[in-house]
Amino acid sequence: MKKIWNEAAECMPRAQLEAMQLEQLKVLVPHLYNTVPQYKAKLDAAKIDPHGIKVLSDLKYLPYTVKQDLRDAFPYKMFAAPMADIIRLHASSGTTGSISVTGYTRYDIDTWSECVARSIVAAGGEKDDIIHVAYGYGIFTGGLGLHYGAEWMGACAIPVGGGNTKRQVQFLRDLVTKGGMGCTPSYALLIAEAARELGEDPTAWPLRYGIYGAEPWSENIRTELERQLGIDAYDIYGLSEIMGPGVGFECEVKNGLHIQEDHFLFEIVDQQTGEPVPDGEYGELVITTPDKQGQPLLRYNTRDVTRVIPEPCSCGRTHRRIERVTGRTDDMIIIRGVNVYPSQIEQILMSYSEQLAPQYQVIVTKHGSMDHMEVQVELNPTFDFDEIRSLEALRAEAREAIRTTLAVNVELNIVEPHSIERTQGKAVRLIDKR
Ligand SMILES: [Zn+2]
Repeated sequence: MKKIWNEAAECMPRAQLEAMQLEQLKVLVPHLYNTVPQYKAKLDAAKIDPHGIKVLSDLKYLPYTVKQDLRDAFPYKMFAAPMADIIRLHASSGTTGSISVTGYTRYDIDTWSECVARSIVAAGGEKDDIIHVAYGYGIFTGGLGLHYGAEWMGACAIPVGGGNTKRQVQFLRDLVTKGGMGCTPSYALLIAEAARELGEDPTAWPLRYGIYGAEPWSENIRTELERQLGIDAYDIYGLSEIMGPGVGFECEVKNGLHIQEDHFLFEIVDQQTGEPVPDGEYGELVITTPDKQGQPLLRYNTRDVTRVIPEPCSCGRTHRRIERVTGRTDDMIIIRGVNVYPSQIEQILMSYSEQLAPQYQVIVTKHGSMDHMEVQVELNPTFDFDEIRSLEALRAEAREAIRTTLAVNVELNIVEPHSIERTQGKAVRLIDKR
Protein backbone atom coordinates (compact mmCIF):
# COMPACT_ATOMS: atom_id res chain seq x y z
CA MET A 1 0.00 0.00 0.00
CA LYS A 2 1.36 3.40 -1.00
CA LYS A 3 1.18 5.75 1.94
CA ILE A 4 2.88 8.77 0.45
CA TRP A 5 1.23 10.15 -2.66
CA ASN A 6 4.07 12.35 -3.92
CA GLU A 7 7.30 11.21 -2.35
CA ALA A 8 9.49 13.65 -4.32
CA ALA A 9 7.53 16.61 -2.95
CA GLU A 10 6.56 15.34 0.49
CA CYS A 11 9.96 13.92 1.43
CA MET A 12 12.10 16.55 -0.29
CA PRO A 13 15.36 17.22 1.59
CA ARG A 14 14.96 20.38 3.70
CA ALA A 15 17.80 22.24 1.96
CA GLN A 16 16.23 21.67 -1.45
CA LEU A 17 12.78 22.60 -0.14
CA GLU A 18 14.02 25.84 1.41
CA ALA A 19 15.96 26.79 -1.72
CA MET A 20 12.76 26.32 -3.72
CA GLN A 21 10.74 28.37 -1.23
CA LEU A 22 13.25 31.21 -1.47
CA GLU A 23 13.13 31.25 -5.27
CA GLN A 24 9.33 31.33 -5.20
CA LEU A 25 9.28 34.15 -2.67
CA LYS A 26 11.69 36.20 -4.75
CA VAL A 27 9.23 36.00 -7.63
CA LEU A 28 6.07 36.45 -5.57
CA VAL A 29 6.88 39.69 -3.77
CA PRO A 30 7.66 41.81 -6.89
CA HIS A 31 4.69 40.21 -8.65
CA LEU A 32 2.33 41.24 -5.86
CA TYR A 33 3.90 44.70 -5.77
CA ASN A 34 3.13 45.13 -9.44
CA THR A 35 -0.33 43.57 -9.58
CA VAL A 36 -2.10 44.19 -6.25
CA PRO A 37 -2.38 47.87 -5.22
CA GLN A 38 -2.97 46.89 -1.58
CA TYR A 39 0.36 45.07 -1.46
CA LYS A 40 2.15 47.93 -3.23
CA ALA A 41 0.81 50.26 -0.54
CA LYS A 42 1.75 47.89 2.30
CA LEU A 43 5.29 47.30 0.99
CA ASP A 44 5.83 51.00 0.33
CA ALA A 45 4.58 51.87 3.82
CA ALA A 46 7.00 49.35 5.33
CA LYS A 47 9.80 50.69 3.07
CA ILE A 48 10.43 47.22 1.66
CA ASP A 49 12.20 46.85 -1.66
CA PRO A 50 10.16 44.13 -3.41
CA HIS A 51 13.34 42.90 -5.09
CA GLY A 52 15.27 42.89 -1.83
CA ILE A 53 14.51 39.35 -0.62
CA LYS A 54 17.88 37.64 -0.10
CA VAL A 55 17.25 34.82 2.38
CA LEU A 56 14.16 32.95 3.49
CA SER A 57 14.20 34.58 6.91
CA ASP A 58 13.59 37.94 5.19
CA LEU A 59 9.98 36.78 5.23
CA LYS A 60 9.67 38.19 8.72
CA TYR A 61 10.13 41.76 7.46
CA LEU A 62 7.19 41.53 5.08
CA PRO A 63 3.85 43.07 6.06
CA TYR A 64 1.01 40.94 7.37
CA THR A 65 -2.27 40.31 5.62
CA VAL A 66 -5.32 40.11 7.85
CA LYS A 67 -8.94 39.15 7.32
CA GLN A 68 -9.93 42.80 7.10
CA ASP A 69 -7.63 43.28 4.08
CA LEU A 70 -9.58 40.61 2.25
CA ARG A 71 -12.88 42.23 3.20
CA ASP A 72 -11.58 45.61 2.04
CA ALA A 73 -10.55 44.02 -1.24
CA PHE A 74 -14.05 42.68 -1.86
CA PRO A 75 -14.63 41.28 -4.35
CA TYR A 76 -11.58 41.01 -6.60
CA LYS A 77 -9.09 43.70 -5.65
CA MET A 78 -6.51 41.25 -4.32
CA PHE A 79 -6.53 38.97 -7.34
CA ALA A 80 -3.08 38.77 -8.89
CA ALA A 81 -4.19 37.01 -12.08
CA PRO A 82 -6.45 38.34 -14.84
CA MET A 83 -10.10 37.29 -14.51
CA ALA A 84 -9.73 35.34 -17.77
CA ASP A 85 -7.44 32.94 -15.89
CA ILE A 86 -9.70 32.53 -12.86
CA ILE A 87 -11.76 29.36 -13.15
CA ARG A 88 -13.34 29.10 -9.68
CA LEU A 89 -14.47 31.30 -6.83
CA HIS A 90 -15.03 30.35 -3.22
CA ALA A 91 -15.93 32.61 -0.36
CA SER A 92 -15.78 32.51 3.37
CA SER A 93 -18.91 33.61 5.11
CA GLY A 94 -17.47 35.37 8.11
CA THR A 95 -19.52 34.79 11.25
CA THR A 96 -19.57 38.58 11.49
CA GLY A 97 -21.45 38.93 8.23
CA SER A 98 -19.00 40.25 5.66
CA ILE A 99 -17.54 37.88 3.14
CA SER A 100 -14.20 37.52 1.46
CA VAL A 101 -13.70 35.94 -1.91
CA THR A 102 -10.89 33.66 -3.12
CA GLY A 103 -10.16 33.09 -6.82
CA TYR A 104 -8.41 30.04 -8.26
CA THR A 105 -6.62 29.57 -11.57
CA ARG A 106 -6.35 26.13 -13.18
CA TYR A 107 -2.94 25.77 -11.54
CA ASP A 108 -4.41 26.64 -8.12
CA ILE A 109 -7.18 24.06 -8.47
CA ASP A 110 -4.64 21.43 -9.51
CA THR A 111 -2.40 22.31 -6.54
CA TRP A 112 -5.36 22.08 -4.19
CA SER A 113 -6.45 18.74 -5.63
CA GLU A 114 -2.91 17.39 -5.26
CA CYS A 115 -2.71 18.64 -1.66
CA VAL A 116 -5.98 16.92 -0.75
CA ALA A 117 -4.94 13.74 -2.60
CA ARG A 118 -1.80 13.62 -0.43
CA SER A 119 -3.99 14.05 2.67
CA ILE A 120 -6.31 11.20 1.67
CA VAL A 121 -3.41 8.88 0.90
CA ALA A 122 -1.82 9.76 4.25
CA ALA A 123 -5.06 8.62 5.89
CA GLY A 124 -4.76 5.27 4.11
CA GLY A 125 -6.71 6.09 0.95
CA GLU A 126 -6.18 3.95 -2.13
CA LYS A 127 -6.99 4.37 -5.81
CA ASP A 128 -9.85 1.89 -5.76
CA ASP A 129 -11.50 3.49 -2.74
CA ILE A 130 -14.91 5.09 -2.62
CA ILE A 131 -14.95 8.32 -0.66
CA HIS A 132 -18.15 9.59 0.89
CA VAL A 133 -17.92 13.40 0.97
CA ALA A 134 -20.37 14.80 3.52
CA TYR A 135 -18.78 18.23 3.76
CA GLY A 136 -20.98 21.04 2.45
CA TYR A 137 -20.64 21.59 -1.30
CA GLY A 138 -21.00 25.02 -2.81
CA ILE A 139 -19.25 28.21 -1.85
CA PHE A 140 -17.74 26.52 1.23
CA THR A 141 -14.45 24.82 0.30
CA GLY A 142 -14.93 21.55 2.20
CA GLY A 143 -17.04 19.55 -0.24
CA LEU A 144 -15.39 20.42 -3.55
CA GLY A 145 -11.95 20.36 -1.92
CA LEU A 146 -12.24 16.79 -0.77
CA HIS A 147 -14.05 15.81 -3.95
CA TYR A 148 -11.32 17.03 -6.30
CA GLY A 149 -8.65 15.48 -4.07
CA ALA A 150 -10.37 12.10 -4.20
CA GLU A 151 -10.64 12.28 -7.99
CA TRP A 152 -7.03 13.50 -8.34
CA MET A 153 -5.75 10.31 -6.71
CA GLY A 154 -8.08 8.22 -8.81
CA ALA A 155 -10.57 7.29 -6.11
CA CYS A 156 -14.33 7.51 -6.57
CA ALA A 157 -15.95 10.49 -4.86
CA ILE A 158 -19.59 10.43 -3.76
CA PRO A 159 -20.76 14.06 -3.59
CA VAL A 160 -23.30 13.52 -0.82
CA GLY A 161 -22.87 16.94 0.82
CA GLY A 162 -24.34 17.77 4.20
CA GLY A 163 -27.82 16.97 5.42
CA ASN A 164 -30.32 14.13 5.03
CA THR A 165 -28.67 12.04 7.70
CA LYS A 166 -30.70 8.92 6.93
CA ARG A 167 -29.33 8.93 3.40
CA GLN A 168 -25.81 9.41 4.79
CA VAL A 169 -26.27 6.26 6.83
CA GLN A 170 -27.59 4.32 3.86
CA PHE A 171 -24.79 5.45 1.53
CA LEU A 172 -22.08 4.73 4.07
CA ARG A 173 -23.51 1.27 4.63
CA ASP A 174 -24.31 0.32 1.04
CA LEU A 175 -22.10 2.38 -1.29
CA VAL A 176 -18.78 2.65 0.52
CA THR A 177 -17.84 -0.97 0.01
CA LYS A 178 -14.19 0.04 0.42
CA GLY A 179 -12.92 3.45 1.44
CA GLY A 180 -13.48 6.41 3.70
CA MET A 181 -15.48 9.49 4.49
CA GLY A 182 -14.94 13.19 5.06
CA CYS A 183 -16.98 15.76 6.99
CA THR A 184 -16.83 17.79 10.18
CA PRO A 185 -16.10 15.63 13.24
CA SER A 186 -19.34 16.70 14.90
CA TYR A 187 -21.34 15.66 11.86
CA ALA A 188 -19.60 12.28 11.78
CA LEU A 189 -20.68 11.71 15.38
CA LEU A 190 -24.21 12.74 14.47
CA ILE A 191 -24.24 10.22 11.60
CA ALA A 192 -22.98 7.49 13.95
CA GLU A 193 -25.68 8.37 16.45
CA ALA A 194 -28.37 8.37 13.77
CA ALA A 195 -27.15 5.00 12.50
CA ARG A 196 -27.48 3.46 15.96
CA GLU A 197 -31.01 4.85 16.27
CA LEU A 198 -31.82 3.12 12.98
CA GLY A 199 -30.54 -0.13 14.44
CA GLU A 200 -27.27 -0.06 12.48
CA ASP A 201 -23.84 -0.84 13.81
CA PRO A 202 -21.43 1.54 12.01
CA THR A 203 -18.41 -0.43 13.21
CA ALA A 204 -19.62 -3.27 10.97
CA TRP A 205 -19.41 -1.09 7.84
CA PRO A 206 -16.36 -1.55 5.57
CA LEU A 207 -15.47 2.12 6.14
CA ARG A 208 -11.74 2.37 7.03
CA TYR A 209 -10.92 6.03 7.61
CA GLY A 210 -12.43 9.44 8.13
CA ILE A 211 -10.92 12.81 7.22
CA TYR A 212 -12.36 15.35 9.57
CA GLY A 213 -11.86 19.09 9.54
CA ALA A 214 -13.41 22.57 9.41
CA GLU A 215 -13.69 22.78 13.20
CA PRO A 216 -11.19 22.21 16.01
CA TRP A 217 -11.41 18.79 17.62
CA SER A 218 -9.61 17.03 20.43
CA GLU A 219 -7.84 13.75 20.94
CA ASN A 220 -10.82 12.51 22.94
CA ILE A 221 -13.13 13.17 20.01
CA ARG A 222 -10.75 11.07 17.91
CA THR A 223 -11.19 8.21 20.36
CA GLU A 224 -14.98 8.64 20.12
CA LEU A 225 -15.00 8.77 16.31
CA GLU A 226 -12.80 5.70 16.06
CA ARG A 227 -14.84 3.78 18.62
CA GLN A 228 -18.24 4.71 17.26
CA LEU A 229 -17.44 4.27 13.58
CA GLY A 230 -14.76 1.59 13.78
CA ILE A 231 -12.32 3.62 11.67
CA ASP A 232 -9.07 5.58 11.80
CA ALA A 233 -9.84 9.28 12.22
CA TYR A 234 -7.52 11.93 10.73
CA ASP A 235 -7.47 15.67 11.04
CA ILE A 236 -7.19 17.89 7.96
CA TYR A 237 -6.48 21.60 8.13
CA GLY A 238 -7.22 24.45 5.81
CA LEU A 239 -9.02 27.69 5.32
CA SER A 240 -10.69 29.20 2.31
CA GLU A 241 -8.60 32.38 2.40
CA ILE A 242 -5.53 30.24 1.78
CA MET A 243 -7.03 27.45 -0.33
CA GLY A 244 -9.43 25.18 1.54
CA PRO A 245 -8.83 21.81 3.22
CA GLY A 246 -5.42 20.24 2.61
CA VAL A 247 -3.10 23.04 3.74
CA GLY A 248 -2.06 20.52 6.39
CA PHE A 249 -2.96 16.94 7.26
CA GLU A 250 -2.24 14.16 9.71
CA CYS A 251 -0.20 11.15 8.66
CA GLU A 252 -0.49 7.67 10.17
CA VAL A 253 1.53 8.83 13.20
CA LYS A 254 -1.50 10.97 14.21
CA ASN A 255 0.66 13.45 16.03
CA GLY A 256 0.38 16.87 14.46
CA LEU A 257 -0.39 18.01 10.94
CA HIS A 258 2.20 18.27 8.18
CA ILE A 259 1.91 21.67 6.52
CA GLN A 260 2.49 21.20 2.79
CA GLU A 261 5.57 23.35 2.69
CA ASP A 262 6.17 23.07 -1.02
CA HIS A 263 3.07 25.30 -1.36
CA PHE A 264 2.72 27.05 1.99
CA LEU A 265 5.34 28.91 3.99
CA PHE A 266 4.33 29.11 7.61
CA GLU A 267 5.38 30.92 10.74
CA ILE A 268 4.11 30.91 14.30
CA VAL A 269 3.97 34.42 15.72
CA ASP A 270 3.30 35.96 19.07
CA GLN A 271 -0.32 37.07 19.43
CA GLN A 272 0.59 40.41 20.96
CA THR A 273 3.85 41.44 19.31
CA GLY A 274 3.52 39.72 15.91
CA GLU A 275 7.13 38.51 16.24
CA PRO A 276 7.95 34.91 15.27
CA VAL A 277 8.19 32.68 18.38
CA PRO A 278 10.86 29.99 18.93
CA ASP A 279 10.03 26.49 17.62
CA GLY A 280 7.74 24.64 19.98
CA GLU A 281 6.08 27.71 21.48
CA TYR A 282 2.45 28.57 20.96
CA GLY A 283 1.33 31.45 18.81
CA GLU A 284 -0.79 32.31 15.80
CA LEU A 285 -0.29 30.50 12.52
CA VAL A 286 0.76 32.79 9.66
CA ILE A 287 0.81 31.48 6.09
CA THR A 288 2.35 32.77 2.85
CA THR A 289 1.38 31.17 -0.46
CA PRO A 290 4.48 31.39 -2.65
CA ASP A 291 3.13 29.66 -5.76
CA LYS A 292 -0.54 30.60 -5.74
CA GLN A 293 -1.71 32.52 -8.79
CA GLY A 294 -5.30 33.66 -8.29
CA GLN A 295 -4.96 35.33 -4.94
CA PRO A 296 -1.54 34.78 -3.38
CA LEU A 297 -1.22 36.09 0.16
CA LEU A 298 1.77 37.40 2.07
CA ARG A 299 1.89 36.41 5.73
CA TYR A 300 -1.81 35.84 6.21
CA ASN A 301 -2.61 35.68 9.91
CA THR A 302 -5.05 32.79 10.30
CA ARG A 303 -5.67 33.62 14.01
CA ASP A 304 -5.42 29.87 14.60
CA VAL A 305 -3.43 29.04 17.71
CA THR A 306 -0.88 26.22 17.47
CA ARG A 307 2.83 25.44 17.75
CA VAL A 308 5.48 23.74 15.65
CA ILE A 309 6.34 20.17 16.55
CA PRO A 310 10.11 20.51 16.10
CA GLU A 311 10.99 16.80 15.87
CA PRO A 312 11.09 15.20 12.40
CA CYS A 313 8.18 12.81 11.78
CA SER A 314 8.79 9.08 11.65
CA CYS A 315 6.60 8.76 8.53
CA GLY A 316 9.45 10.08 6.38
CA ARG A 317 7.80 13.30 5.24
CA THR A 318 10.11 16.28 5.64
CA HIS A 319 7.38 18.93 5.84
CA ARG A 320 7.19 20.24 9.38
CA ARG A 321 4.20 19.57 11.59
CA ILE A 322 2.01 21.83 13.66
CA GLU A 323 0.06 20.69 16.66
CA ARG A 324 -3.65 20.37 15.94
CA VAL A 325 -5.29 23.75 16.21
CA THR A 326 -6.73 24.37 19.68
CA GLY A 327 -8.90 27.21 18.56
CA ARG A 328 -8.99 30.39 16.63
CA THR A 329 -8.12 33.54 18.54
CA ASP A 330 -11.51 34.80 17.32
CA ASP A 331 -13.28 31.85 19.08
CA MET A 332 -11.57 32.58 22.34
CA ILE A 333 -13.91 33.54 25.17
CA ILE A 334 -12.64 35.88 27.82
CA ILE A 335 -14.29 35.03 31.14
CA ARG A 336 -13.39 37.41 33.92
CA GLY A 337 -10.04 38.04 32.32
CA VAL A 338 -9.22 34.38 31.65
CA ASN A 339 -8.82 33.15 28.06
CA VAL A 340 -10.80 29.99 27.34
CA TYR A 341 -11.33 28.03 24.12
CA PRO A 342 -14.42 25.82 23.81
CA SER A 343 -12.08 23.04 22.61
CA GLN A 344 -10.28 23.07 25.98
CA ILE A 345 -13.57 22.47 27.73
CA GLU A 346 -14.32 19.70 25.27
CA GLN A 347 -11.04 18.02 26.07
CA ILE A 348 -11.86 17.93 29.76
CA LEU A 349 -15.44 16.75 29.24
CA MET A 350 -14.31 13.99 26.94
CA SER A 351 -12.03 12.55 29.57
CA TYR A 352 -15.38 11.38 30.97
CA SER A 353 -16.41 9.84 27.66
CA GLU A 354 -17.77 6.74 29.33
CA GLN A 355 -20.33 8.81 31.18
CA LEU A 356 -20.69 11.88 28.96
CA ALA A 357 -21.52 12.13 25.26
CA PRO A 358 -19.38 14.27 22.91
CA GLN A 359 -22.19 16.82 22.62
CA TYR A 360 -21.80 20.02 24.56
CA GLN A 361 -22.51 23.71 24.46
CA VAL A 362 -20.98 26.67 26.26
CA ILE A 363 -23.37 29.50 27.08
CA VAL A 364 -21.93 32.80 28.27
CA THR A 365 -24.15 35.43 29.89
CA LYS A 366 -23.82 38.42 32.20
CA HIS A 367 -25.06 38.09 35.75
CA GLY A 368 -25.08 41.73 36.77
CA SER A 369 -21.62 42.89 35.80
CA MET A 370 -20.09 39.41 36.13
CA ASP A 371 -19.49 36.98 33.28
CA HIS A 372 -21.24 33.69 33.78
CA MET A 373 -20.38 30.54 31.88
CA GLU A 374 -22.68 27.57 31.72
CA VAL A 375 -21.53 24.32 30.16
CA GLN A 376 -24.18 21.85 29.09
CA VAL A 377 -23.09 18.35 28.22
CA GLU A 378 -25.17 15.34 27.33
CA LEU A 379 -25.22 12.15 29.29
CA ASN A 380 -23.90 9.16 27.39
CA PRO A 381 -27.05 7.16 26.60
CA THR A 382 -25.28 3.84 27.09
CA PHE A 383 -24.03 4.60 30.56
CA ASP A 384 -25.65 3.01 33.59
CA PHE A 385 -25.24 5.32 36.54
CA ASP A 386 -26.07 2.93 39.33
CA GLU A 387 -22.88 1.09 38.52
CA ILE A 388 -20.33 3.65 39.51
CA ARG A 389 -21.54 6.87 41.02
CA SER A 390 -24.31 9.38 41.12
CA LEU A 391 -24.86 12.07 38.55
CA GLU A 392 -24.20 14.75 41.15
CA ALA A 393 -20.77 13.37 42.02
CA LEU A 394 -19.85 13.24 38.34
CA ARG A 395 -21.04 16.80 37.83
CA ALA A 396 -18.99 18.04 40.76
CA GLU A 397 -15.89 16.20 39.59
CA ALA A 398 -16.06 17.43 35.99
CA ARG A 399 -16.75 20.97 37.18
CA GLU A 400 -13.74 20.82 39.47
CA ALA A 401 -11.59 19.51 36.60
CA ILE A 402 -12.57 22.55 34.50
CA ARG A 403 -11.87 24.87 37.43
CA THR A 404 -8.42 23.51 38.15
CA THR A 405 -7.35 23.16 34.50
CA LEU A 406 -8.69 26.41 33.08
CA ALA A 407 -8.93 28.56 36.21
CA VAL A 408 -12.58 29.42 35.63
CA ASN A 409 -15.69 28.62 37.61
CA VAL A 410 -18.47 27.26 35.46
CA GLU A 411 -22.00 26.09 36.00
CA LEU A 412 -21.96 22.56 34.66
CA ASN A 413 -25.19 20.85 33.75
CA ILE A 414 -25.47 17.30 32.55
CA VAL A 415 -28.47 17.11 30.26
CA GLU A 416 -30.55 14.29 28.76
CA PRO A 417 -29.12 12.46 25.74
CA HIS A 418 -30.06 14.16 22.41
CA SER A 419 -31.25 17.37 24.08
CA ILE A 420 -28.60 19.67 22.57
CA GLU A 421 -29.52 20.79 19.08
CA ARG A 422 -27.51 19.07 16.33
CA THR A 423 -26.19 20.81 13.24
CA GLN A 424 -25.30 19.24 9.92
CA GLY A 425 -22.22 21.32 9.35
CA LYS A 426 -20.02 22.96 11.92
CA ALA A 427 -21.18 22.37 15.47
CA VAL A 428 -22.38 25.38 17.44
CA ARG A 429 -20.31 25.08 20.61
CA LEU A 430 -20.48 28.61 21.90
CA ILE A 431 -23.43 30.88 22.53
CA ASP A 432 -22.24 34.23 23.79
CA LYS A 433 -25.19 36.29 25.02
CA ARG A 434 -23.17 39.11 26.53
ZN1 LIG B 1 4.28 12.19 9.47
